[in-house]
Amino acid sequence: MTGEPIPLAGVIGAPVSHSRSPALHGYWLRKYRLKGYYIPIELGYDTFEQGLRSLPLLGFHGVNITIPFKEKVLTLADVITDRAALIGAANTITFLKDGRIQADNTDGFGFIANIRQQAPDWDATVGPAMVLGAGGAARAIVSALLAEGAPSVRISNRTRNRADMLKEHFGGRVSVIEWSNAASEMQHAATLVNATSLGMTGQPELTLNLDRLRPSTLVAEIVYSPLNTGLLQKAAERGCRTVDGLGMLLHQAVPGFENWFRVRPEVDIGLRQVVLNA
Ligand code: NAP
Repeated sequence: MTGEPIPLAGVIGAPVSHSRSPALHGYWLRKYRLKGYYIPIELGYDTFEQGLRSLPLLGFHGVNITIPFKEKVLTLADVITDRAALIGAANTITFLKDGRIQADNTDGFGFIANIRQQAPDWDATVGPAMVLGAGGAARAIVSALLAEGAPSVRISNRTRNRADMLKEHFGGRVSVIEWSNAASEMQHAATLVNATSLGMTGQPELTLNLDRLRPSTLVAEIVYSPLNTGLLQKAAERGCRTVDGLGMLLHQAVPGFENWFRVRPEVDIGLRQVVLNA
């Protein structure tokens, strides 16, 4: 007699060995005493499609997708959620019972859920948001801030052209600020987000002058290694409320885990510690 097959999930990327997702999902599987495994899977460009399509046969209920396949996976999906379509990339794949591949993007959800957990009275509608960066993460964050009702989102990026492309994509409430003017324009921001890789271990520091930053501005990071970045330290010294980037990583994983293992997991202190140590 055979019982229900043990549900599997995982993360596909290249490389994937650095991913903290196995530690993250492993914590929840243990916490909720669930049968299941979460496995890192490294595939190349030439093996990605075949590898992805074979996973349901092996008992996978879904996978996270990381660099460099977040855009490519949309070309293989049968169902694309609105937010993944809007962002143009997916990080969470669910193999539906009828055999279709569903692609979702939970980065923006994770970004907002993290702010709500770390600064519960934050309200996107109270004033303009300013986003530093115009890469993949910035795209998800701009989309989420607009959905939350930010009256305007001002993007500043070293390469202006990428910020212009986001403005073109998201339209009316988005404007572009020259990178050289970012420091002086900060004074207008109710929410300031670093969505660049600056400040990350191994990358240059974010050296923008923060003298114009108002204490009432909420400052959010997406860099989580180190946890307390130079930006967060300096913003806290100016009296700003700050939100670190680790929570975004933790919260973006919630919808996938719920789809695959049928429990909506909680982001708690134990999870933060396990992922920090991973
Ligand atoms: P990406 O698409 O490569 O974008 C990188 C961004 O950083 C671009 O805006 C880029 O500007 C900017 N940048 C890089 N080096 C710079 C420099 N020296 N000076 C000024 N700007 C610079 O990467 P991504 O996927 O958006 O990820 C960005 C960061 O977010 C990474 O550190 C990633 O680990 C982190 N992240 C965190 C989470 C989370 O859950 N917390 C989720 C996703 C990503 P240009 O356009 O001028 O190159």
